Amino acid sequence: MHAEIVAIGSELTSGQKLDTNSQWLSLQLADLGIAVRYHTTVADDLAANVEVLRAAVTRADVVLITGGLGPTLDDLTRDALAELAGVPLVCDEASLAFVETFFQHRGREMPERNRVQAMFPEGSEPLPNPVGTAPGIWMTLPSPGSERTCLIAALPGVPSEMYRMFREQVRPRLPGGKLLIRRARINCFGLGESGVEELLGELTARGRDPEIGITAHEATITMRIVAHGVSEEECRQKIAEARTEIGRKLGHYVFGEEDDELETALIRMLTAEGQTLATAESGTGGLMAQWLTAVEGFEKAYLGGVVVPTDAAREGILQIDETDGAVSATTAAAMAVACRERFGSDYALAVTQYPAINPEHVMGNAPFAYLALADQQGAEAQQISLGGNPAILRSRTAKAALNLLRLRLLQSCGEAQAPTRR
Ligand code: ATP
Ligand code: MG
Repeated sequence: MHAEIVAIGSELTSGQKLDTNSQWLSLQLADLGIAVRYHTTVADDLAANVEVLRAAVTRADVVLITGGLGPTLDDLTRDALAELAGVPLVCDEASLAFVETFFQHRGREMPERNRVQAMFPEGSEPLPNPVGTAPGIWMTLPSPGSERTCLIAALPGVPSEMYRMFREQVRPRLPGGKLLIRRARINCFGLGESGVEELLGELTARGRDPEIGITAHEATITMRIVAHGVSEEECRQKIAEARTEIGRKLGHYVFGEEDDELETALIRMLTAEGQTLATAESGTGGLMAQWLTAVEGFEKAYLGGVVVPTDAAREGILQIDETDGAVSATTAAAMAVACRERFGSDYALAVTQYPAINPEHVMGNAPFAYLALADQQGAEAQQISLGGNPAILRSRTAKAALNLLRLRLLQSCGEAQAPTRR
C-alpha cells in the first residue's frame, strides 16, 4: 500500500510558504504503516491540478490532498476532482446549512462565494470541518489501468484544520493501523559517521528491521531506529534489542537518547555525583556556557563561566601568563586551573582556539584547538585537530570539551567501557 501527498497552492510553488502539511501527513501515514512514495506540489491551476491528480491516482493507493478548498476563485481542488472523475459538482444540503450556520454564529451573512464550499463532486462524501468553513472531500476512484481502487481525501490547507480533520475523519477511513512504526534515537559523540557505521557493521544494513540510520548534526551522531511491528510490544522489544546492541558496539561513545545533548548528559552526571563545574572559553564565544545554562536544573551542577576571547580578558580575569601563546596546551591548562579557583568548583573546563579560522592558521595543517580539564589534582590538556567543516568548528571544540569531562566522570564511576571492535 503506497500513498502520495499532493500539496496545492501557488504560495507553495512560488516559495512564499513552506509545505509543512506533506511532512506532517507523511509521519501520520508512517505510523499507520502506509509508505509515502511521492510528495507533489502544484500551483493553483486547474489543468495542472487535474494532471497531477491523474498521475497520483494511477500510481498510489491513497492520495491525500491539502489546500485549495476555500471559497475563492483560486481554490480549485473540488473542480479538479470532479473533472478527474468525469462527474459534475452537486450541492450537499447539509454542508450548505453548516456553512450558513457558521456565518450566522458570527453574526454575518454568508457571502455568495461560500456557497461553492457546499459543492462536491457527485458520488463523493463531505468530510465535516469542525474548525473552519471548508469541508473536506472523501472519494474513491478506480485506478486507471488496474483493478485497484484509490482512496482520496482532500483537506483544507490551513494546518490546524487539516490536522484535526485528518485525525477525526481520514485516519479511521484508511486501512492499516495493523502495522505500527515506532522510532527511537540514540546519540553519540567522538566518532565520525563512517566510524560509527564501521563499528555498527551489519546493524545498519538496508532492509533490516529495525532499520538503523545514521545522521550527523554538528559533530553529534544520531542513530535513528525505526521498528515495524503488529503491536506496541513488538516494536518496543525490537527497539530495546537494537539499543542494547548499539550500546555494546559503541560503548562510551553513546551519551544519550532522543533529545539528549552532551550538556544534558553532563549536567545529569554531575548532579548525580553532587559535583560542580565552571568553564572558561576563548574562541568558542561562550557556547559551553550557553548550552549548559539551557539545561533544566543546571544550577546544582554548573556554577558559571567566563568568555575570555582576548589576551587582555584572559590576563585580566583569569590572571594567567601566556608564555606559549594564546592557543596552546599550557594556556588551556592555566585557564582551567584559574577558572576552577575563581568559581570554587570541583571541575573546570577550558577551551582555546582562534576565534575565526584565518587562512594563515589553516595553511598546510589543520588548525588546532586546546581543551583542558582541571580538578583538585591539577589540569590535563589535550590538543584537537580542527579539520572538517569550518562552519561547525566552534561547536565541535565546545562539545569535545564537554565530552572530556563526561568521559572522566564515566571512568571515575567505573562505567567507561571500550567499544568492541569488529
Ligand atoms: P481556506 O479556506 O483558508 O482558503 P484552503 O483549503 O483553500 O483553505 P489554501 O487557501 O490553499 O487552503 O491555504 C490556506 C492557508 O493554509 C495558506 O495561506 C497557508 O498559510 C496554509 N497552507 C496551505 N497549504 C499548506 C501546506 N502545504 N503547508 C503549510 N501550510 C499550508
Ligand atoms: Mg484558499
